[in-house]
Amino acid sequence: MNAEIIAIGSELLTPTKTDTNSLWLTEKLNDIGIEVMLKTIVGDDGARLEETVRDALRRSDIVITTGGLGPTEDDITRKCTADAVGRELEFHNDIENHLRERFKAWGREMPEINKRQAFVIAGAEILPNPHGSAVGMLLDQGGKLLIVLPGPPRENKPMFTEHVLPRLQALAGETVVRRRLLRVSGLGESAVDEIAAPIYSSYGNVQTSILFNKSEVELHIAARANSEIAAQGTADEVADKLNAALGKAVFATNGETMEEVVGSLLRERGETLSTAESCTGGLIGYRLTEVPGSSAYFIEGAITYSNDAKIRELGVEPAIIEEHGAVSSECAEAMADGIRKRSGTDHAISVTGIAGPDGGSEDKPVGTVFIGYSGAKGTKSIRLVLPGDRYLIRWRTSQAALDYIRRQIMSR
Ligand code: AMP
Ligand code: MG
Repeated sequence: MNAEIIAIGSELLTPTKTDTNSLWLTEKLNDIGIEVMLKTIVGDDGARLEETVRDALRRSDIVITTGGLGPTEDDITRKCTADAVGRELEFHNDIENHLRERFKAWGREMPEINKRQAFVIAGAEILPNPHGSAVGMLLDQGGKLLIVLPGPPRENKPMFTEHVLPRLQALAGETVVRRRLLRVSGLGESAVDEIAAPIYSSYGNVQTSILFNKSEVELHIAARANSEIAAQGTADEVADKLNAALGKAVFATNGETMEEVVGSLLRERGETLSTAESCTGGLIGYRLTEVPGSSAYFIEGAITYSNDAKIRELGVEPAIIEEHGAVSSECAEAMADGIRKRSGTDHAISVTGIAGPDGGSEDKPVGTVFIGYSGAKGTKSIRLVLPGDRYLIRWRTSQAALDYIRRQIMSR
């Protein structure tokens, strides 16, 4: 079963108002195994709305609209949905009476324009709205379901949960969806797919999507089955196979962030970490300390931006900077050794690089970054040339540094 969502309202086409209804609805539909194939946002324009609803009912099993059920002139959903299915609007005395009662209870007289809200598509089931004046509608149109919901989230959420979800659940059968999220570092999207595709494509009931996200590749696994145990079992099986095939590049098997993974590794081992940052200006320390409980393993971070600070705070030999420059493997290693000595941690990580847009040279272009590591087994470093603007280079440097420390901890 598939669905599509039509969000109605001209305000949703402005930069100031976001269509959140469809996000919420999509989550609820996915949970019961109904896939959303298309979302449309339509302004308060009768012709376009009618056409959109008609097209939607032709191609999708379930069509859900939200918004445009208010009493004013620009609320055209009732009329347009009725026209799209070729049915009349019928006036319901009981809805009008109910509206009058509601207004009376607020100590007000019902404005006459609210009578519009007592019109319902002929043959549609009325979905009551205890939180507002607009009723919803549900119509079986030749085997397709048209569901018309009010716009305000506080009205359509309870309406959907109480009156629509049980219906759809019965239609969808006992479909359950369970998900896993793997995160991969150090491999590109295509490289990941080359390894992953032969595995996930052999499962008919699993949907896998691969997304590149700033500095990592995400593998979203969604398994469908007729029981929770079967769905979870399949999702886990696919996740395990992908994890084994992709090896160490997989840093998270349950959607954890890189800083959470590094934190867990340190915590499990009872080990500590310090950082010395130049071009990232504290971003690595910031990310590490975003994780609750990080005080158990993160001891200290130095932001040593100038050469002078690297010499003064970390004890980097001036000769190293004179000979190799501050952006060099020698300097990165000296920074890592320096902060580890000062803080007495088990591990230390350092970064020094050129975030741009200026400062690049032929042999050290913008994006050149050295990451240093210092630990009980010695000191080492890597050189990377990262693509992107200043923001991305700094972010990717922090990710590469955290991944480097992750790999060092795991290889011991
Ligand atoms: P309406 O039903 O068009 O009168 O909309 C009533 C209220 O619900 C307005 O404040 C809208 O901005 C809000 N609303 C309508 N559609 C959405 C949507 N798709 N997502 C979030 N809010 C919405
Ligand atoms: Mg509106």
